[in-house]
Amino acid sequence: MDYNRADMIQPAASPDKKLTQLPPMTSPDISSWNPGPWRGWLLPAAVYVAMPWVGWWAWRVERRTLRDGRPLFTSEWAAAVRVGVRHPEKVRIIAVEEIPMPGLGWMHLIAARWGFDRRNIGGLCLRYGIILRRDLAAQPVIMAHELVHTAQYERHGSLTGFLRAYLFQCLRHGYCNAALEREAVAKSTP
Ligand SMILES: [Zn+2]
Repeated sequence: MDYNRADMIQPAASPDKKLTQLPPMTSPDISSWNPGPWRGWLLPAAVYVAMPWVGWWAWRVERRTLRDGRPLFTSEWAAAVRVGVRHPEKVRIIAVEEIPMPGLGWMHLIAARWGFDRRNIGGLCLRYGIILRRDLAAQPVIMAHELVHTAQYERHGSLTGFLRAYLFQCLRHGYCNAALEREAVAKSTP
């Protein structure tokens, strides 16, 4: 799985600029940065312990999106195949005012410090359930970005398999530098 290659973790020139409609993401400069005990060990342990619950939340929101969402349009289907989605027929899309996040308000504040500020998030991919912010839902780049995450879920084999890997990467390297996120940005921009 080459998306774990160390050379994909290096900071990009400016990954934020590609999502021109969103405010810039905040992420620490990792060039001389050590995650330390808090992000390197304690928070990953907390994520590990919380994983069954996060997985349950993700499964419920995915199920709701599959029930209420629309299937992919032809052009979106082609984009899904291009970025490696094996089952585009399973994908459903829903547009919402505000992207949902698990947990309580104080957890969202911590998440915002990692770069997961929900006001800055244009979309959320929960395997085959893709949730897009209504004002950004028509942008093919954002759709393609979330479809790359769908392909990543398929490669990881389960909701929790992907979410664990993704959250650990975000903790250690910051949202913008996580290898799975970098892959999504690289494959979704023309
Ligand atoms: Zn992403």
